[in-house]
Amino acid sequence: MFPGQLSSQAFHEDIFSTLRDDDSRIYELITKEYERLQNTLQLIAAENQCSKAVLAALGSVIQNKTTEGFPGARYHGGCEVVDEVERLAAARAKEAFGAKYANVQPHSGSQANQICMTAILKAGDKVLSHGLEQGGHPSHGGSGSLTGKFFEIESYFVDKRSFLLDYDAIREQAFKVRPKLIVCGASVYSREIDFKRFREIADEVGAYLLADISHLAGLVMAGAHPSCVDYAHFTTTSTYKAGGPRGGLILMGKDYDLPMKFSDRDMPLWKCIQAATFPGVQGTPYFNNMAAKAVFFKETLSDEYKARQFKIIENAKRLAGNLSGLGYDVLTGGTDNHMVLINVESLREALTGTIAQRSLEDCGMTVDAMLLPYDKKPVFITSGIRLGTPIVTRNGMGGQEIDSISELIDVVLREVKVKSDSEYEIDKSLRDEVSNKVKQLCGRFPMRY
Ligand SMILES: *Cc1c(COP(=O)(O)O)cnc(C)c1O
Repeated sequence: MFPGQLSSQAFHEDIFSTLRDDDSRIYELITKEYERLQNTLQLIAAENQCSKAVLAALGSVIQNKTTEGFPGARYHGGCEVVDEVERLAAARAKEAFGAKYANVQPHSGSQANQICMTAILKAGDKVLSHGLEQGGHPSHGGSGSLTGKFFEIESYFVDKRSFLLDYDAIREQAFKVRPKLIVCGASVYSREIDFKRFREIADEVGAYLLADISHLAGLVMAGAHPSCVDYAHFTTTSTYKAGGPRGGLILMGKDYDLPMKFSDRDMPLWKCIQAATFPGVQGTPYFNNMAAKAVFFKETLSDEYKARQFKIIENAKRLAGNLSGLGYDVLTGGTDNHMVLINVESLREALTGTIAQRSLEDCGMTVDAMLLPYDKKPVFITSGIRLGTPIVTRNGMGGQEIDSISELIDVVLREVKVKSDSEYEIDKSLRDEVSNKVKQLCGRFPMRY
C-alpha cells in the first residue's frame, strides 16, 4: 500500500459484499483484476476507466428489463421507465455530439457498424474501407467478419512513406471501385482524419459515408478532434474507449432524414437504421448499459471531461516527443490524438512488437503489440507497439509522469535480451527495479472513479 492508494477491499466493500458471500471465486478474480489495474500502468489506447456512477448503472436492476423495439413502440409491457431511460440516453448523446439522431441500442461498436451496413446495403454491394492489415477494423469488412462475408470489400491504404491517408489516391480508387459505402476511421492511425474530404469523395461517387470514431469519440465530443457528425451520413462508435460503459452508438447529423438512396421505398435514413437494429441485427437492448451510457454522456458535458481530452493529446504528444528524442521511430513523427505508434524493429534489429509488449508487461506496463502499415512480420509477432494515454491521464498523470514513463519504457526495450521473434530474457534486477518504480507511480495516482 502507498499513501493515498485505495484498497480494493474498501472499493468493493459496499457493492460486492453479496458477491463475495455468494461466489467467492468470481469475487477473488474481480479483486485480482482491480489490483492489476491499480498497480500497473495501462497504456492501451483502446481502454479507458469509467466512473463509479457508470458502474452503478451497469449493476442495477434495470438489467432485468426485457423488451424489443424503440420507445413508444415496444413488444413487451412495463416499459414506461426504460422508455424514459432510452429517450434520455439518446437526447444526451445528441447533445454531447451535436447530432440530430442517436441510437443508443448497439451492444458494441462492431454491431453499430453491422447495423449501418445492413441498413443501406444488399449482399454483394461494394464497400471501400481502411485496410484491416493497416489498422482498419474487422467490422469494416475484414475477411473473417460478417461484413466481409456479405459485402464486396475494397481496401484503401496509407501512403508508403508518410503513413498518412492519401486522399487523392482514395478518391481515385473510389472512382474505380464505385462503392455504395465508404468507411473511414481506424484503430491504428495517430493523425487527424479529414472527414470533410471523405464526404466530398463520397458525394463525387454517389456513396454513403460511415465514420467510425471508436478511438476518437471522446476527443470529438470535447472538440479536441474535428467532428464528423455532419459530414458522415452515419457516425458509429464504441462507448467504452471514451470512458463510458461497454457498448456502441450510432449518430446522424444533418442527413438523418434523407430518403434512402438504394431502395424503391421512400424511407428516411434514420428509420432504416432503426429497422436494421431490430429485428435486423439485435434482439433486446441492454437497458442497464443504456442507463450507463446516459450517465456517461452527462459526464462528457463537464468541464473536467472536456479539459481531460485535451490533456490526453498533450500527454500523447509528450510521450511521442520523448521517445522520438530517445531515438525511437514514431510513426508519422508524432500524434494528433491519444495514441502513439512505434516501430520497435527500427530501434533494435531483432526486437519485435510481441517481445516489446511482453517485456514491458513483465515490468508492469501494459501496451499492445501492433501490426503497422506495410508490416512484414506475422500478425502475432508484429514490428510495432501502440501506446495510449487515456487512462494515465484519467488518473491525473501529467508531463512529469509521462517523462518517467518514457524512461521506464526505454530502459526495458534497450535492455531486453532478444532470443527469437517471441522469446526473450530480462535481467531480474532490472525487472524488479522497473516494476517497483511503476508501482510507486501508480500508488501516487490511484485509479479515479
Ligand atoms: C474498437 C473499435 C471498434 C469495436 O468496438 P467493439 O465494441 O469492440 O465491437 C470498432 N471500430 C473501431 C475503429 C475500433 O477501434
